[in-house]
Amino acid sequence: MRTLIVSDIHSNLQAFEAVLADAEGAGGYDEVWFLGDLVGYGSDPSACIDRLRRLSHVAIAGNHDHAVTGKMNPDLFNGAARAAALWTAQQLTEDEMSYLADMPEVRRMGSFTHVHGSLCDPVMEYLISEPAALATFALMETSFCLVGHSHYPLVWTEDNGRAGVELLDPSAPVVLDPEQRMIVNPGSVGQPRDGDWRASYLLYDSEAGASGILYHRRVEYDLAGAQSGILAAGLPESLAIRLGNGH
Ligand code: ZN
Repeated sequence: MRTLIVSDIHSNLQAFEAVLADAEGAGGYDEVWFLGDLVGYGSDPSACIDRLRRLSHVAIAGNHDHAVTGKMNPDLFNGAARAAALWTAQQLTEDEMSYLADMPEVRRMGSFTHVHGSLCDPVMEYLISEPAALATFALMETSFCLVGHSHYPLVWTEDNGRAGVELLDPSAPVVLDPEQRMIVNPGSVGQPRDGDWRASYLLYDSEAGASGILYHRRVEYDLAGAQSGILAAGLPESLAIRLGNGH
């Protein structure tokens, strides 16, 4: 089984399409695991929802999905994110809103747990510190946990009561071992923040190695198209600029 693992698409259709095409070129996939924040920031929320729904997939909710559907107060966001959430809510049909509102916050599938933020706070906590990683390791009932939210492609490894972290590297596939618990973030499709503007994602091959291998990939997309869409929609210019900066 080959699985496309994506997070934080953020209404960036150009980036999402580029990831789907790149994954096809890399051998294809049987299903998609989506880790939250389908909408918010970008200018194509309906098209991104439609594209994901046409794929065989499972999805969980992120904080931006909650803000758009009213499950979270958008006033908790900074100005640009809040403006995008309110704008997005105006664009969506009732059916699209229900789709977002029905996404669960946590999902367990075999040896994987899916959650946008962390197991301590499913949509809000950023898993970017050792205490946060250790707290989620303590709550994990599976060997592996997949997260999004920080937009950083990284892997946390548990080792004798400590948690170590490394950035993912496309030249270094992550070999899975059920005895070695890990928390992995595929990075963001639609708004990378690690200084590299290219869309970030993972391909998981469950039959590679003894217990499966995660392959990190980066792919260029139509950045100018995504930026001009944001400006044409009247969304804050800062959201277009940050796409080019990759943070
Ligand atoms: Zn996000």
